[in-house]
Amino acid sequence: MDERVKELLEKAKLTATAAAGAAAETGSRLVEKTKRSLRAFDLNNEIEILMREIGRTVYLTHTGAETDEEELQAKLEAIDGKYAEIAEIKAQQEAQRSALTCPVCGKPCDKTDLYCRVCGEKLQ
Ligand SMILES: [Zn+2]
Repeated sequence: MDERVKELLEKAKLTATAAAGAAAETGSRLVEKTKRSLRAFDLNNEIEILMREIGRTVYLTHTGAETDEEELQAKLEAIDGKYAEIAEIKAQQEAQRSALTCPVCGKPCDKTDLYCRVCGEKLQ
C-alpha cells in the first residue's frame, strides 16, 4: 500500500477513536448533570415535607399539645443540611455551565489554551 494512503488511514482511525471517546465523555457529563438535577428535585421535595411536619408541630404547640422539641430541632437541622446540599449542586451546575470545552471534540479546555490538547482544534 502507498505510504501516503497508509498514513491517511492511520490518521482517520485516530480521529475516529478521539471522536468516540469525546462522545462517551459528553454522555457521562450529561448523566452527571441529570443526576444532579434529580437530586436537587428530591431535596426540594424532602424540604417541603419537613416544612409541613414542622408547621404541624408548631400548630400543636399552639393548641397546648405535647410536642417533641428534639424531633423538631432535628427536622430543622435536616433542612439546613438539605439546603446546603442544594447550594453545592447549584455551584456544580454553574461551574459546568461556565466550563470551556472544545467545539469539535467536547473535551474540557483551559481558558488560556490556544489549541485543544486532545484534537488540536484552534480555540481562539
Ligand atoms: Zn478538541
